[in-house]
Amino acid sequence: MRRISIFGATGSIGQNTIDLIARAPDDYDVVALTGAGNIAQLAQDAIRLRADIAVTAEEGRLDELRDALNGSGVQAAAGAAAITEAASRPADWIMSAIVGAAGLAPGLAALGQGSTLALANKESLVCAGHLVKSTAARHGAAILPVDSEHSAVFQALIGEDMSAVERIIITASGGAFRDWPIEDLPKATVAQASSHPNWDMGQRITVDSASMFNKAMEVIETREFFGVDPDRIEVIVHPQSMIHALVGFNDGALMAHVGPPDMRHAIGFALHHPARRHLPVERLDLVAIGTFEFRPPDEARWPALRIAREVMARGGLSGAVFNAAKETALDGFIAGHIRFTQMADVVADTLDALDARGGHIDATMTLDNVLEADHLARKAAELAIKKRAG
Ligand code: NAD
Ligand code: MG
Repeated sequence: MRRISIFGATGSIGQNTIDLIARAPDDYDVVALTGAGNIAQLAQDAIRLRADIAVTAEEGRLDELRDALNGSGVQAAAGAAAITEAASRPADWIMSAIVGAAGLAPGLAALGQGSTLALANKESLVCAGHLVKSTAARHGAAILPVDSEHSAVFQALIGEDMSAVERIIITASGGAFRDWPIEDLPKATVAQASSHPNWDMGQRITVDSASMFNKAMEVIETREFFGVDPDRIEVIVHPQSMIHALVGFNDGALMAHVGPPDMRHAIGFALHHPARRHLPVERLDLVAIGTFEFRPPDEARWPALRIAREVMARGGLSGAVFNAAKETALDGFIAGHIRFTQMADVVADTLDALDARGGHIDATMTLDNVLEADHLARKAAELAIKKRAG
């Protein structure tokens, strides 16, 4: 029996992970499940999977969680520190699927005890790639990608030599507004941005897909995960979301990974790695699909892509600043304080504001200074939002 824990168990990735493990309950010994506001879901899954402990991020909800678990034998805990404590409980495989920078500390704790980390929380690599990778190396822990594009690249690289890789191409669906006239984008509503043409995901990543901040994060994630120079990473728009990524080699070959837009593939690949096991995902009928389209990534429509390049050029802690500014801008848009197109302006202003202070050029990276950069960036981004909200 493999000991497994799922961080962000109540979310879209977490629920897809549970879908896979619930199909073979005898194979897994569930240690910890964590969530935030959805106490009923968290408790129900913890009882069903016989977890040792269930943890909610919301400190004030501990009694509610305790009541929901009453008589089940599952322990209850609450708060950010309790989540990180749960990540240091021995487990063989840990799913990191909390959304946002809150996933960083539990991910580091999991790596610190040598667990294999299935990493959906791309924010960890964007904010603190060096710290995450060095922690894994120090403790002999493996990190397996659970973003569809990065799982695709990882699979295309099996048995290959990185020195033969010329370029990595990740695809983008283009999100909700790929066919809108650019001049209409300032009018985009939260509801419109929260509906994805191909993928069923959490709200935050869905809005980030419409703005391409998600793809911007993924470009940085690609650089951190595979150690390739930024100028070797390309983005193309592929509206069908079936080719997830391609790797170009020095003999001109392009190896593409093709599959249905279903995160259970990337999750299942990471769960069974290095084996391949049967997964309950649709088998593509290419004749029925007929056509795959590709379009250039338009930086006027999606300025986030340009900003990602600037972040990689700046280096140091600018990934942490970028992510925090992006999270704050997204909160501002969801709350109705800024327009859709102003999210990019807020992020660009925040990077400039902290750059002017020299605050994020510091190349040393510890959890403390990453969290400090995150904190300063959130304050600067809130100011930039206030300025625009008038
Ligand atoms: P989601 O919003 O559906 O779920 C997020 C989970 O994190 C929930 O369990 C929630 O309770 C928990 N959470 C939220 N705030 C928290 C906090 N402050 N502390 C602790 N836990 C907290 O998100 P999702 O779509 O499942 O995405 C999760 C992660 O996976 C994100 O980093 C996202 O970018 C990445 N990802 C998601 C997909 C996808 O298809 N959904 C694909 C690739 C990568
Ligand atoms: Mg992705």
